[in-house]
Amino acid sequence: MPPVGSRASTTPISPRASGRSSSSSAATRGVKLVPSSKRAVNAKLVIIGSGPAGYTAAIYAARAMLDPILIQGIAPGGQLTITTDVENYPGYADVIQGPWLMEQMQKQAAHVGTKLVADHVNKVDLGKRPFRVECESGDVYLADTLILATGAQARWLDLPSEQKFRGYGVSACATCDGFFYRGKEVLVIGGGNTAVEEALFLTNFASKVTLVHRRDHLRAERILQERLYQNPKISVLWNTVLDDVRGHDDPLKVTGAVLRNVKTGEVVERPVDGIFIAIGHSPATELVAGQVEMKPSGYVKTAPHSTATSVPGLFAAGDAADEVYRQAVTAAGLGCMAALEAERFLAAHAAYRAAAE
Ligand code: NAP
Repeated sequence: MPPVGSRASTTPISPRASGRSSSSSAATRGVKLVPSSKRAVNAKLVIIGSGPAGYTAAIYAARAMLDPILIQGIAPGGQLTITTDVENYPGYADVIQGPWLMEQMQKQAAHVGTKLVADHVNKVDLGKRPFRVECESGDVYLADTLILATGAQARWLDLPSEQKFRGYGVSACATCDGFFYRGKEVLVIGGGNTAVEEALFLTNFASKVTLVHRRDHLRAERILQERLYQNPKISVLWNTVLDDVRGHDDPLKVTGAVLRNVKTGEVVERPVDGIFIAIGHSPATELVAGQVEMKPSGYVKTAPHSTATSVPGLFAAGDAADEVYRQAVTAAGLGCMAALEAERFLAAHAAYRAAAE
């Protein structure tokens, strides 16, 4: 198995910026924005996002001599960096680790000539070309074409008690937080692949894992379901939803969950130490909201069999645009398409400009 661990070093062109893990606005992070004294950087192609879609787009674009600039965002590597075993990414006979896969993609993108920027995009102006991309560091890029590969983020139930205990017994990442539940009892909410994988992973630490699902069958793949049912540490509560999280205030700590059977209406309070929310993901498309056509679900709308959006020169790839497949390999494929389409767009516009001159 390949080694897991240290990140590949990038070749940042913005030394003032650094990657951080947090949410989107600078204000919420208490980061002071310093106006940049630099001039805006012109680019044929800027890629926003550093998951499989972004890195694949960068690899193709760099090899097409587009000199792409890839802005990595606050969680470089995206969702795969908080995943453990990956056994469905083609090309690896043995199980590989998500962080390792992303490290390889980053190295490959850098190796073929991508400029990787450790910064976070705060604002995109799609009103005219070149598109204006403003970063948290104050740096500005003027992009002839733009690939949006910003991925998706974990969804929450939005219960007030869930928000209160986030980080104190409520989590959306078993890989990140599972270690803290050694010998403890935990719940996992959800019935998709993520929920089942999280439940299986948590059995490495927890004494008991209960999967709580709102329906009477799972949407997770059959192979995962079989592993779930065969694991003696896991039980499933069907037709059940989480209504409330119970816990102590000082220090903040989860002690229980209020669960409701949606068929019978029966409500029970169950003592637990941790609750993992695994109910899917929302696309991270706020940057372009109101500037490009979106689907009602918040995903960017793309033309059939294409990554082209309603804004000429803007392409969307990966989980920001794909609400159907949402796999690392499909994100990579869409990233490839986006780079090829950006290349054709630039070539067509260069030919148009040449003809006009
Ligand atoms: P998902 O497939 O959308 O599943 C979300 C689950 O959460 C569903 O079971 C859903 O219930 C439940 N849910 C949603 N909202 C809820 C709410 N408000 N209250 C209670 N339950 C709620 O999301 P995912 O599991 O994160 O997977 C996302 C995508 O990534 C999928 O395409 C999946 O195949 C892929 N993925 C693949 C792998 C892998 O291949 N190894 C691993 C992880 C994820 P219902 O079933 O009733 O709708």
